[in-house]
Amino acid sequence: MKVPHLEPDSMVGSKPYVSKPEHNTPLGFPGELVEGWEQKAVTKLGELVSQSRALQVFLDSCVKCGACTDKCHYYLGTSDPKNMPVARQDLLRSVYRRHFTFAGKFFPKLVGARDMTKEVLDEWYSYFHQCSQCRRCSVYCPYGIDTAEISMAAREVMDSIGQGQKYTNEILVKVHKIGNNLGLPGPALANTLEGLEEDVKEDTGVDVKYPLDVKGAEVLLVTPSADFFAEPHVDGLIGYGKVFHAAGVSWTLSTHASEAGNFGMFVGSSANLHKIAMRIREAALDLGVKRIVVGECGHAWRVAYSFWNTLIGPFDFLDPRYPVPQHICEFTYDLIQKGALKFDKSANDDKVVTFHDSCNVARASRMGNMPGGQFVIPREIIKATCNHFHDMAPETIGEGTFCCGGGGGILTDELIDLRIKGAMPRMQALKDVIEEHGVTHMAAICAICKAQFTKIVPYYKLPMDMIQSVHGLVSNAIVLNAKQ
Ligand code: SF4
Ligand code: SF4
Repeated sequence: MKVPHLEPDSMVGSKPYVSKPEHNTPLGFPGELVEGWEQKAVTKLGELVSQSRALQVFLDSCVKCGACTDKCHYYLGTSDPKNMPVARQDLLRSVYRRHFTFAGKFFPKLVGARDMTKEVLDEWYSYFHQCSQCRRCSVYCPYGIDTAEISMAAREVMDSIGQGQKYTNEILVKVHKIGNNLGLPGPALANTLEGLEEDVKEDTGVDVKYPLDVKGAEVLLVTPSADFFAEPHVDGLIGYGKVFHAAGVSWTLSTHASEAGNFGMFVGSSANLHKIAMRIREAALDLGVKRIVVGECGHAWRVAYSFWNTLIGPFDFLDPRYPVPQHICEFTYDLIQKGALKFDKSANDDKVVTFHDSCNVARASRMGNMPGGQFVIPREIIKATCNHFHDMAPETIGEGTFCCGGGGGILTDELIDLRIKGAMPRMQALKDVIEEHGVTHMAAICAICKAQFTKIVPYYKLPMDMIQSVHGLVSNAIVLNAKQ
């Protein structure tokens, strides 16, 4: 990827809307910027550093080697040097040094230490909302410094002084009140699922069910709420239902836990992360399910895989053969391995497919019981359901995958310019594989990636409907037995 010419401060004006008191106070944050916020921000930063050894190590150990500088898609797409990961870290590191290191206290200029001023806060607000917390930079840092953690800490500090972001905080309030990011109430959800049943019956002649709040079902499926109506997400949900049907496994969705996403992670708020995840435990217990399966959502899978056990475990009430959590791709792949699903791959013969690895799945979780399962399993599902598949260039997939440009809580319209620019490296790799192999469709297993891509591909002169759910491909090809 070509390193751009520097355009200093070109993105300084790119920032999300500030959240209002009605979005902040229900989350336990001050309604607006508090009096004495400068000192309060420093105190909060001190608390976070003392609670997280990792954060302290990340702030102390950068040697300015430069290995991360050209690894961020936002830097590559915007040319703004403050979008280099090391520069982004330094926005917070400079304040940390000033207040929590000997050299910074006594020789601030010598070590680039800065006081917490309005100018610094404004920079934080702009540039920590130009980080999708994708962790790509950490893969290339010899010290494993994770800018995503620094970005989460900065956002947590800002929320603690009443300088939160509207998009994420408004959504968090909706989940607490209604159960999902979209604010879709139970009756609307039930209507949507009934509509899906009718559509699938019309298409296939088979009574595939999309059950809601069924007590005693074996599986609770928790999926991103975008799966209930957005394109191409809903094709994925249709596919999950067909897989459960074909496998003869009873399953249910839940009104109470109608959201797999957890924006608590994006704003670095463990209290909100916990409260949202807790809805899933409550629903599983209430419905008496034996397994929990997570639908196609990148950060939800990270939360489930990495945090659920400590956040909302133990899961001793579930079937011990299926330790929590399972990804829907693991579920489908297991059935494929057992020969329990039948596919007519020719149903996808109008497509030459490539696969976009989502950051939170690729770099922050695993899948299945093999190393790299999170890369192998979705591809094996695609290959089982499609005759034509080609990967993008190796340095742009797998662990080195480029972010879609809309992750980490920045999928909001006022940041569209940033989102388009940040998608540039992924779009470049996609265009290369289109030219070389005639790829026509790109599949993903993340609700945010799908939403971001469908919105921005037209800016790159590509069709919106080239974006697919992996389980949408499954849905097209699966052979259903009408007698089941
Ligand atoms: S975590 Fe991702 S978005 Fe953030 S600085 Fe690193 S590469 Fe850029
Ligand atoms: S790669 Fe790591 S050590 Fe090197 S400049 Fe970047 S953050 Fe610092």
